[in-house]
Amino acid sequence: MSKSILQDKKECYICGLYYPVEEHHIYFGPNRNISEKQGFKVWLCSEHHRGTIGVHGKYGHALDTRLKQECQKKYINIGHTKEEFIKLIGKNYLDN
Ligand SMILES: [Zn+2]
Ligand SMILES: [Zn+2]
Repeated sequence: MSKSILQDKKECYICGLYYPVEEHHIYFGPNRNISEKQGFKVWLCSEHHRGTIGVHGKYGHALDTRLKQECQKKYINIGHTKEEFIKLIGKNYLDN
């Protein structure tokens, strides 16, 4: 299992709750395996994961986008290019 590039602690990335937490692959669906391999994942409490405002929830789109942007930023900050990211994920989540 790879390590998250976004966090060291096993706690909800959004609210800091540390138990129980679930693993979330930031670019899920067809990019889930790539997320696993690259460490594009965070821990989330069940509310921020599968609740109404959670990343997979009915009103979770903003949070989902936020995580996708923060993860792409971090990937670039640790020494990769935007092009490398797009090659992996097939999409750019940042404006610049
Ligand atoms: Zn939470
Ligand atoms: Zn998830």
